[in-house]
Amino acid sequence: MNTYHNNRVLSVEGVTKEYNHKNIIEAITIHLDKGEFVSILGPSGCGKSTLFNVISGLLEPEEGKVFINNNEVTGKTGIVSYMHQKDLLLPWRNVVDNGILPLEIRGMNKEEARQKVIEMLPIFELEGDGEKYPTQLSGGMKQRVSLLRAYMFSKEIMLLDEPFGGLDAITRLKMQEYLLEVLRKIKGSVLFITHDIDEAIFLSDRIYIINGSPGHIVEEIAVPFKQLSTTDFIATDELSQLRGKILKLL
Ligand code: ADP
Ligand code: MG
Repeated sequence: MNTYHNNRVLSVEGVTKEYNHKNIIEAITIHLDKGEFVSILGPSGCGKSTLFNVISGLLEPEEGKVFINNNEVTGKTGIVSYMHQKDLLLPWRNVVDNGILPLEIRGMNKEEARQKVIEMLPIFELEGDGEKYPTQLSGGMKQRVSLLRAYMFSKEIMLLDEPFGGLDAITRLKMQEYLLEVLRKIKGSVLFITHDIDEAIFLSDRIYIINGSPGHIVEEIAVPFKQLSTTDFIATDELSQLRGKILKLL
């Protein structure tokens, strides 16, 4: 049953999805509250992207429901979308015109859409880059533009599917800190898919561990020490304990 929660932005209740009469994910129940950063952590092939396809309405589940802001949206597209690692920017469009895509699709006037994106450039640390084309951007900058575009699509919730998976280790660490910084400014709520334990621990308030075939939630873990800097918290015993606990579940 969907009980009403004031600050609940997303709620997935008992979702099961099959391909060819075989369950890929089963009885998935998760939620995301306003301002929370929640990760779905699990090995590849366990159905994480399938779950996002259901949440964004691209796939209709066999069982279960999806609620956004307490409204049922199961099977409806256009409300939230997600960003993944291979998200491409249109090479013939500059940063601003890539950012306006979701607004344009919704029928907003181009100039108005551009204004909205230009206002957000400083927050996404892209000030002065609005006129640049994708070939002029580094890998990290391209991901910032993709994040901005995901934000323009749905400000309430950002669904990020392994967004930093294609980046080198150093850029990836920088992008993780950058993401937390942007989220502080926009007060965003994020559901984040990863198969990287440290990434999940560093970014999240809570982690759902998904595993098995069909994929199901095996554990929900609260991360008690988020927001310490990377270097500070790498040393703590608490971290290695948490990492050990998670490893056993994967
Ligand atoms: P993850 O994102 O965790 O790596 P996916 O959700 O992409 O996992 O895939 C989960 C399982 O569903 C995989 O075994 C994959 O082969 C299968 N699968 C994904 N998409 C389809 C599809 N369109 N048709 C049939 N099987 C699919
Ligand atoms: Mg995937």
